[in-house]
Order: sequence, then C-alpha cells, then structure tokens
Amino acid sequence: MKVIITFLSLFLVVTFTMKAQDFTSSLYETYENYKELSLDKRRIKYAQLVPLINKLKSNPKFEVKKVGESIEGRDLSLISFGKGGTDIFLWSQMHGDEPTATEAIFDILNFFDSGDFTKEQKVILANTRLHFLPMLNPDGAEIYQRRNVLGVDINRDALRLQSPESRTLKGIRDSINPPFGFNLHDQSRYYNAERTPKPATISYLAPAFNYEKDINEVRARGMQVIVFMNDVIQNYAPGQVGRYSDAFELRAFGDNFMKWGTSSILIESGGYADDREKQEIRKLNYVSILSALYGIATGKYKDISLDRYERIPRNDRKLFDLKIENATYHLNGNDYIVDLGIHRQEIDDVSHTDFHYNSVIVDQGDLSTYYGYETFDATGYKIVPPKATEQAIPAISNVDRLMDYEKWVQAGFGYLRAQNVPKDKAHLPAKINLISQNFKLPNFELMVGKNPTFFLEKEGKRTHAVINGFLLDLSQPFQDQKFGNALIYR
Ligand SMILES: [Zn+2]
Repeated sequence: MKVIITFLSLFLVVTFTMKAQDFTSSLYETYENYKELSLDKRRIKYAQLVPLINKLKSNPKFEVKKVGESIEGRDLSLISFGKGGTDIFLWSQMHGDEPTATEAIFDILNFFDSGDFTKEQKVILANTRLHFLPMLNPDGAEIYQRRNVLGVDINRDALRLQSPESRTLKGIRDSINPPFGFNLHDQSRYYNAERTPKPATISYLAPAFNYEKDINEVRARGMQVIVFMNDVIQNYAPGQVGRYSDAFELRAFGDNFMKWGTSSILIESGGYADDREKQEIRKLNYVSILSALYGIATGKYKDISLDRYERIPRNDRKLFDLKIENATYHLNGNDYIVDLGIHRQEIDDVSHTDFHYNSVIVDQGDLSTYYGYETFDATGYKIVPPKATEQAIPAISNVDRLMDYEKWVQAGFGYLRAQNVPKDKAHLPAKINLISQNFKLPNFELMVGKNPTFFLEKEGKRTHAVINGFLLDLSQPFQDQKFGNALIYR
C-alpha cells in the first residue's frame, strides 16, 4: 500500500510539473497569436496606447479606471480583472525610455481577452485579481527619456512624492494593498550574467527593505516567485538571466513596497543579440509574467527554497557591441597590442520615434575580462587609419540611395567627400561616412571617446573596415553584411 501511495504521489508531482511546463512552453510557442502588433518598436508613445485602452473600456471582461494624470496631463489608467482574493499589481515604464514591458502588458491583455488556455486562465482568474498600470511615465516616453518632465527620477520619489505619477503609484498600492507587485523596467544592454559572455537578457530582483538586506516573509515570497520565473526563462534564454543588485535604496519604490508589505518583484529587460528593438525580450517578458501569475495562482512557488535565488548569477556590466581583440596599433614608431571595446550608441531623431547609431570606443587596452555581442580576434592584424577622398563627388540627389561607394571602401577610404551634404541629416545607410566639400578630417587617433572608423590589415593586405563601429569583411559582398548607419560630417 505504502509503495502504491508513494508511486501515486510521485506520479502526481511529475504530472503537475509537466503541466506547468506544458503551459509555459505553449505560451512561448503560441505567442504570435497574442502579440499586440500596433506596438512593434521601443519608442512607443501614449497616443498609441489610447486606442488600446479605449477598446478595453468597452470590453466587459476588463474594468478600466483613470487613476491619475501625468504632469503634462496624460491619463494614467488601471486595468483590473479577475475574481480571486490575491491582488497582483503590475506597473511599467516609470522610466520613459524603458518600454519593453508596456508592450508585453498589452500582449498579456490580448491573451486574457482571447479566453484561450481556458483551464489555466480559469485558475489564474479564480485565484487572483490583476491590476495593470502600463506606462506610468507617459511624458518621459514622449521624449524617450528616463525622468519625467519635472526632471525627477520617479524611482527616487517614493518618499517625497513630488511627482503626480509617484502619488498615483503609491495611492494604488495603499488602496489595494496587494501581496504582490511587479515593477517592470529595462536595463542597459551591456549587462551580462556575471563571469559569462551571455547578456543579462532578463534580470530579476526582490529588493531589500533595509540596509542590512534582511529577508522577511514578504521578501522571501518575492524571491520564490523569481526562482519560479527563472526556471521557465532558462528554457528560452539559457544562462541569460541575471540577479540585479540588491543594494538598499531608501527612496526607491520597489524597496519601499517591500517595506509596506507588498512582495515587489523587479523585472529588467536587458539585451539580446540582434534584437535592438527588444521584440524577443518582450516575448520573454510575456512568458515570464504569465508564468509568475500562474505560479502565484496555483501556489506552486511556495515550495521553492530561498538558496536557489542566491544561485542566480549576479548582473555584471562587461559587454560591448563590438570587441576587437589583440589588434596591433602603431604609434610614434612602435607597435602596441590593444583590445577595443565599442558601444553603438543610439541618438534619437527630433521626434523621438526613431534613432541612428553614433558609435564610440568606450574602453581600450587589456579587455580580457570583457565580452562582445560580436568579437573579432585581430591577432596579427594592424589598425590602419582611414582615408578621405580629396575630390568631392558631384551632388547626390538622395544620400539614402548612395550607390557604388564600395570601391572607395575597398581602396581604404572611410570618408567620401560630396558637394551637397544635406544640412538636416546626421547619418546615411551607405557603409561609408560622408563629409562636406571643405571638411578637414582630424588626424587619426585611437582613443576612448572617439568614433571607431578605421581599417584592419593583415600581411600588408586590407581585410576589414570598421565604419562607425560596424565591422565589414572586405572579402564578402557588402549588401549581405550587418550594418547600422554611417555618419555625415560637415
Ligand atoms: Zn528603470
């Protein structure tokens, strides 16, 4: 009899675990059915959310309430549904330039609107009541900046509450007093999981509520839910989860939520190779959050031991977009070996709806403890300064359609002089920089803070170009090679 019971309970445990995994893996596989297609790039604006929120208002499944206004008068809306006793409050984008989870929230709302996965949705909605506040800082989102228009970082305003957005956030917490709160952010794409070359695509934190970083019941619950999510996300981004620093910040919301009795869970969307617009990361957010809701609704997280939280690797910040290793640099008659760390920095257009790259060398020297999304081993390669053409080419009708420039790059030119460099443009899609007729190219210098445009030469032969931080293999056709943009200098 005992054997049978043991066998039976083992069977139950196995089927339950399998079911949880089935659900989360189905979430990943069926994601495209629920993706909110009107949000497809990071620089989303409040005006794009308005029609989505209006649609929810006329949908009896959801209760939509105006809960506040930003400084510039944009509405803050709370979307609530579910009949269970466990309140879960989720808010996104308190930092205006951190939109990934806002997109994921609308995917999640589409998921619940669909009624698919009937059994799992029933479990979630019978046990929890969900409250979503997407885009807490719409004024910041408008100009794609972290702070609100008061110039305040809302996440340092939890005590002083000078921003209306902060007061709304605190007011909702106090009125619902939820046991769980999800604080949804984006972090730098240059974070990696400690001592690995893998980006911290998702980072989690159950923040401390005091300087001693004590663990009480409230914080422990947050840690357990994080481990539950981590177990899921490891299936889709193995090794790409980090643990955000738990240094106590007296003025931050997550830390204070913990103090006020809400298990706050920070999710940070970081970087992922070839995913500048973070659409894969958005999908991981969707899977992570829905898994957590399911874990909370079923109580499945409760058995998780806390030491597993500590085993999630810490966040580190050791990534470059492009790392060039062991290149030879000739200076004042001597050769030196240097590594280069390059960031492809984003410069917003005036409308803050799109951006272009302006790359910078952010570190050079021995970078053996750093990693790159792209790494090039330049052992035996010499760094060669780029040339600029002397004769200006005739007027170009449209710089976006500049053709036939490849021969110049092949011949060692990084800058093409042109007669009519447009006054209102800073970049072009061609893989060569453009300079105005009288532009004087400064002497080449390999230095932190400079734009990386140069050539690599091996045994006297030019093999690669680096144009505005993008590496081109000169032996391959240009059109197939990954490239952002080149720059225009006047
Ligand atoms: Zn943030």
